[in-house]
Amino acid sequence: MKPSIYNTLTRRKEELEQTSGEFGMYCCGPTVYGPAHIGNFRTFLAQDVLRRTLECAGYNVKHVRNITDVDDKTIRESQKQGLSLKEFTSRWEDKFHSDCKKLNMLPPTVEPRATEHIKEQLEMVQKLVDKGFAYPTKDGSVYFKISAFPEYGQLTGLDFEHMATQSTNSAGEANNADEYDRENVADFALWKGRKPEDGPNFWKSPWGEGRPGWHIECSAMSSKYLGDTFDLHGGGIDLCFPHHENEIAQSQCATGKSPYVRYWFHSAHLMVEGQKMSKSLGNLYTLDQLVEKGYTPAQIRYALISGHYRQQLNFTFKGLDDAKSAMSKMKKGLDAALEKTGVSEDEFKAYIKPANAFANTVFEGAWEALIDDINVPKALGKIFSALPEASTKADLQAFGALLYALGIDLFEDAGQHGDIPAEVRQLAQARWDAKKAKDWAKADEFRAKIKSLGYEVFDSKDGFDIKKA
Ligand SMILES: [Zn+2]
Repeated sequence: MKPSIYNTLTRRKEELEQTSGEFGMYCCGPTVYGPAHIGNFRTFLAQDVLRRTLECAGYNVKHVRNITDVDDKTIRESQKQGLSLKEFTSRWEDKFHSDCKKLNMLPPTVEPRATEHIKEQLEMVQKLVDKGFAYPTKDGSVYFKISAFPEYGQLTGLDFEHMATQSTNSAGEANNADEYDRENVADFALWKGRKPEDGPNFWKSPWGEGRPGWHIECSAMSSKYLGDTFDLHGGGIDLCFPHHENEIAQSQCATGKSPYVRYWFHSAHLMVEGQKMSKSLGNLYTLDQLVEKGYTPAQIRYALISGHYRQQLNFTFKGLDDAKSAMSKMKKGLDAALEKTGVSEDEFKAYIKPANAFANTVFEGAWEALIDDINVPKALGKIFSALPEASTKADLQAFGALLYALGIDLFEDAGQHGDIPAEVRQLAQARWDAKKAKDWAKADEFRAKIKSLGYEVFDSKDGFDIKKA
C-alpha cells in the first residue's frame, strides 16, 4: 500500500504515485512581516508530516517552499519601521526559520524568495499577455483575464457568481482587494503598477515600473524548481480560492500544460479554545508565547499534529497538557521496551530515521493508519496500544521510523526554560518586550529584578535565554 491523501482537485482519496526520479512537492510559504502563529504552523506541520511519511515510504521528495518577501504588508511595515524591505523581511525570515527548527520541521529542499525571482515572474506575465490571457491597464498593471480560461474554478468547484470577486477567500475572509482598474472584478493582478506608497520597492517591466502580484510568484517558482507539471501542492484551506485557483489559471495558460499539479493537499483551519483565531481575540499565539507559558516546542508540535489534517483542530491549553502527558507516557513505554530488548537509548536514537521498517512488527497497524490519508490521530492510538507489545529490535526500528515520520522528539532538552520559575520567565519576557520597544531603561530595570531573583538573562539570535546566576 502506498501513502494516500485526499486530493482536493478530484475530491477523493488517492494513492500518491512518484512518476519520475523525484516527488515534487510545492508548499505556499510564509509572508515574512511578523512572527508566524500556530495556525500557520498547523499547516506547515501537516506538510512536514506528509513529507516525512513519504520519505519513510521510500519517495525521493523534493520540497519547495517559497518566502513571500514583497507584498502590501511587508512594504507597509518595513516603511513604518524605517527599514529597507530586505532588512525588514530577513529579520522575520530568520525568526521563521528558528521557529521551524524548534518545532523539528525539516527545512525545504529549496526555499526561493519572491524578490529573487522577478525575472521568472515577468517572463510568465509576458507569456500570458502574448497568448491573450492577460492585458495591461493604464496604471501600468497587468491583469489575468478570467473569461479567457473557462476551466477557472475547477479546484473549488465554484460557479461564476462566486468567482465574480477576488475579494473573499475560501475561508470567507476578506482579501486585500486592490484598487486598480481591471476590466472585470474577477480578474486578478499579475503585475501591479507602481504606486507612491511603494517607495523604493519597484522593478522595471515592459509595462512600466511596479512589482509582482502575489499569485504569480508561486506559479513562476514552482515551475522553475519542479517543472510545468508536478506532483503535489500544499497549503491551508483558505488558500484554495482565490490563490490556488489563480495559480492553476496562470500556470496552465502560460505553459499550455495540464494539469499544473496532480495532487492538492489542503489542511483545515485551527480554532483556539473553540473560537476563530483573530487579532481582536488575542489568540493568534506565537511559538514564543506558548513557550513562555511553560510548554516545550516538542509538546506544541505534538498538539498541533494530533488532529486529522482535514478536520478543524481546536487548539486548547488542555490539549497542550494532554500532549505533554501523552509524550511522557510514550517515553515511559519506550523505556520499558528498551529494557525488555536490551537496546540502549543511544542505539535507539539511530533508529529515528526514514525507513520502511514496519512489516511484521507490532507497529504495522500504526504505519497503515498513517499512510491512509495521513491519519495521525489513528496512528497515535495504534502506537499507544502497540508499544507495550514491542519486544524485538525490529519493533524498535519500526517505532523509531514512526517517530521520524511524525517528527515527535521524546528526547527534547527540556532545559530551555524547564525549571525556571514563572515569575522569572515573565520578567524576562517583559524585558524582551521593552527591548523590542527600545525602552532600554525599563529593560535594564527588569534585568536587575531577574538578577535579584538569582537568574541571568541573555540575548540569543531570536529571543532570550535564562540561566541560574
Ligand atoms: Zn502560493
